[in-house]
Amino acid sequence: MTTAVAAPFRFFSLEVVRTRRLGPSMVRVTFGGEGLKDFAAGGRDQSLSLFLPHPGQETPVVPVPDDGDMYATLGAWRAMPEDVRAVMRSYTVREQRLEPAEVDIDFAVHADGGPACRWALRAAPGHRVTVLGPAVADNTAVRCRPPEDTDWVLIWADETALPAAAVILEWLPAGMQARVWLEVQHTEDRQDLKTAADARITWLVREEGAPSALEAVSRAELPEGSAYAWIAGESGSVKALRRHLVRERELDRRRVTFVGYWKRGVSEDGLRDEAVADEADDM
Ligand SMILES: Cc1cc2nc3c(=O)[nH]c(=O)nc-3n(C[C@H](O)[C@H](O)[C@H](O)COP(=O)(O)OP(=O)(O)OC[C@H]3O[C@@H](n4cnc5c(N)ncnc54)[C@H](O)[C@@H]3O)c2cc1C
Repeated sequence: MTTAVAAPFRFFSLEVVRTRRLGPSMVRVTFGGEGLKDFAAGGRDQSLSLFLPHPGQETPVVPVPDDGDMYATLGAWRAMPEDVRAVMRSYTVREQRLEPAEVDIDFAVHADGGPACRWALRAAPGHRVTVLGPAVADNTAVRCRPPEDTDWVLIWADETALPAAAVILEWLPAGMQARVWLEVQHTEDRQDLKTAADARITWLVREEGAPSALEAVSRAELPEGSAYAWIAGESGSVKALRRHLVRERELDRRRVTFVGYWKRGVSEDGLRDEAVADEADDM
């Protein structure tokens, strides 16, 4: 007997319900629609791929077949001209609610922003997007997975990873020690974050002349015990911090989850091309 296993990811068609400015550098876009029926975010740093229309297009161009096959769709999407096919960018589920069915995504907006940033600044009720997202909550796009014996957690995030860090803080067990550094541009970009963890949160506000992530963390006295680190944001900062944690702080590299969310001067398409080239070099 074979048992059908639900595909972990699927394409969903969503619609903007409302938007809200959270601060000078962050816009929250709330999505809804019938499409959300089978959406199943796994929490923490649950990421998804957002497909956005180009200016002048009403809907994102993604050739999703009737059976919704993910690989066939991605292949067909890749084969289309770049100026026609939807722009694909990675984002995080800040919150999923069931009644009414809604999903929030928080977009960091910045002066030299690309298509996703510009889309978020203009987003309005009724605007449509396509999402390649989770259909089962236990999926590989949730990367924050502290081992069971974790005594304390270290978190560093810039504004692009602040939505994920916020969900992780909400998810951490009561009383878990956490040392958290959150980097933002403006004083008003700081957010009130909820957590039951014993979290010491330090905001690194760039316009106030805050030290870099590496400076801040390397100066800090860290708790004793088995650590787990989750660091995400600009890839240069992520690399430097990971090196510090593994080499100088002697954290087991398997207990450090690190994700470059963006790279200065390179679009996400450029980052994907770099990743493909690196894989080819390794072969
Ligand atoms: C797993 C994952 C989850 C993510 N979740 C989120 C999320 O929830 N919210 C969020 O805002 N972002 C998130 N990001 C980051 C987001 O995908 C990138 O910032 C993306 O580059 C934005 O697309 P864009 O079209 O605006 O800019 P792109 O066209 O990709 O890039 C244009 C230019 O903008 C620069 N740039 C990109 N981001 C920034 C920035 N923050 N500050 C300054 N310059 C920048 C690039 O270096 C490039 O020069 C996530 C990334 C990953 C990999």
